[in-house]
Amino acid sequence: MKKRIIKSLGVFALVAGLQANSQEQNQATNTMDNILLAEWSGPYAGVPAFDKMKVELVKPAMLKAMDAHLAEIDKITQNPEPATFANTIVPFEDSGDLLSRVFTYYGIFSSNISSPEFREVQRELSPKISEYSSKISQNTALFERIKTVYENSQENPLPAPDQRVIDLIYEEFAMEGANLNKEDKARYAEINKELSGLYTKFSNNVLAEEENYIVYLTEDQLSGLTESYIKAAASTAEANGESGKYAVTNTRSSMDPFLTYSDERELREQVWRNYYSRGDNNDEFDNNEVIKKILKLRDERVELLGYDNFAQWRLQNRMAKNPENAMELMEAVWPAALARVEEEVKDMQAVADREGANITIKPWDYRYYAEKVRKEKYDLDSEEVKQYLELGNLTQALFFTAGELFNFDFKPVEEGSVPVFHEDVKVWEVTDKDSGELIGLWYLDPFARQGKRSGAWATTYRSYSELEGAKPVLASNNSNFIKPAPGEPVLVSWDDAETFFHEFGHALHFLAADIKYPTLNSGVRDYTEFQSQLLERWLSTDKVINRYLKHHETGEVIPDELVAKIKKAATFNQGFATTEFLASALMDMKYHTTDPEKIEPKQFEKETLDALGMPDEIVMRHRSPHFGHVFSGEGYATGYYGYLWADVLTSDASEAFAEAPGGFYDATLAKKLVKYLFAPRNAMDPAEAYRKFRGRDAKIDALMRDRGFPVPN
Ligand SMILES: [Zn+2]
Repeated sequence: MKKRIIKSLGVFALVAGLQANSQEQNQATNTMDNILLAEWSGPYAGVPAFDKMKVELVKPAMLKAMDAHLAEIDKITQNPEPATFANTIVPFEDSGDLLSRVFTYYGIFSSNISSPEFREVQRELSPKISEYSSKISQNTALFERIKTVYENSQENPLPAPDQRVIDLIYEEFAMEGANLNKEDKARYAEINKELSGLYTKFSNNVLAEEENYIVYLTEDQLSGLTESYIKAAASTAEANGESGKYAVTNTRSSMDPFLTYSDERELREQVWRNYYSRGDNNDEFDNNEVIKKILKLRDERVELLGYDNFAQWRLQNRMAKNPENAMELMEAVWPAALARVEEEVKDMQAVADREGANITIKPWDYRYYAEKVRKEKYDLDSEEVKQYLELGNLTQALFFTAGELFNFDFKPVEEGSVPVFHEDVKVWEVTDKDSGELIGLWYLDPFARQGKRSGAWATTYRSYSELEGAKPVLASNNSNFIKPAPGEPVLVSWDDAETFFHEFGHALHFLAADIKYPTLNSGVRDYTEFQSQLLERWLSTDKVINRYLKHHETGEVIPDELVAKIKKAATFNQGFATTEFLASALMDMKYHTTDPEKIEPKQFEKETLDALGMPDEIVMRHRSPHFGHVFSGEGYATGYYGYLWADVLTSDASEAFAEAPGGFYDATLAKKLVKYLFAPRNAMDPAEAYRKFRGRDAKIDALMRDRGFPVPN
């Protein structure tokens, strides 16, 4: 339910519910002058009052807004008239606006400007949000009305957008057990509660294992490591009371560069073993029993709903539709990845032999020798590349791309006319280039700061839907670039520039929305990364290169040889990357399509990988006892394949542009791109939308070419 309740704001963790106490309810009603509850005012049909929000206003506003939404739902269920689309689905879709606005502020506090005070508010609110959420998802009277509308629509189909919205709503309720009898419903809720405890236990165990296995290096064990790594390792050691030593922590960000650069083979093995044994050390933090319990409970839960296995239940509303389709894709790519690993190992063994190392390549040698091969073959200096990637130029490159493909024009708003939550945040007005029609606003929060979550992401403060008055979209992008000294340029890596385009792709997906009902804005897990991944491809188009990838001092365009090197380097080490990913994705699917009574995780993992022919030199990217995507929650359970699924679409669609008469700027294809792949969001079945864009289903051939693999016949 959460994606509709909290309109447009994505995943929201569900936790066990608690009773709200009456004192807080009193507090919640005393909110007359809480600015977070006010209608948005000012230009652009109203914008959030980011300049006036305060942490202490969040909790009373959230409580009030959740109550208000539940009251709206009550009004729907108390209607004495028989349920119809107009008296049930329309008001349901139209409800929750106040909460959606308050949640915008909540999102900014949690992601952009968090603080200990806010985390306390989050802790207090989390059970209330969960309780509120179940009051909707388990509302029998509401579901009965939805079911009536749905069943009537099976006899007398509704117009397309109405039918799509009732299908999605009904399906979502049904998948969460709304159709069960009282007894089964109770068991269902019990299972969920048990699972939520096991998910927390799983992730806490992994966390403990990350904290408990730190390798401390001495001065003479630093050979090969970079200056910045050594510095960070020294300060971590000092923080842990081990002054004068260097800490290699048991996390990916510490392990990966250590295995890539350290010349100390025995230490590499130790660091590797610590990392890939997390949750598998036969002690109090061992996760193997936790996995067994999780799998059994998931299986029992979907059995209540009449499904054979968890994967079947989970994938029904994904683009892949069923586990067989997902497996088919993975099995098609797998042999090519294995063949490439063999070549990569051969290349690396040759380097080791030439250096007289007298070793056979082991998993803890892979990254180390791959780096040596990379240097030999590609000789790419990332510092040199950075000189041509200046943030201001890249931002203009985004606008140029959006102008060419979407016919959007970006103009900075007058300073101070739109409130922001930090002085670094800048806002642009987005209009149609020809008609001048207002599309929305684009907020950019570019720099890292204390209290801001890491990485890069996109979000909306207000999404588009006809039902809610077709107001301008308020979209935002958020990054963590290092803020430069005044007057200094921000230079970014090629990867970061790609990510900048990626997140802008999400923003364009929000801005281009043309749909009738809010639910049609919702995302489909194996599809929503496709649009953003596709947009990354415009970074290396000639027009963007020639206009925007210029040296920050000389203005010289990035040299062709450098671009060629970057593109060539993209296929490097794809055997390793694809194999470690696929091994995890395949295991994820096998775990959820096999009878859990027959699963002993340790043994099951080994036997399954043996049967697949997993190479000795590589291990799963996430081994089962620390596979948090799958066992710390349900977000990616039987969903890990989704990255590859979206990649297939990305490569295939990108080839359509490469082959079009106007290339990546082909006007006809750009129109189709907007019309079928961006504007409909979830108003059209993704597979059908893709077919309309491409004239056929996606094929894996382009992905194979992109990764430098042979294309199957
Ligand atoms: Zn993304």
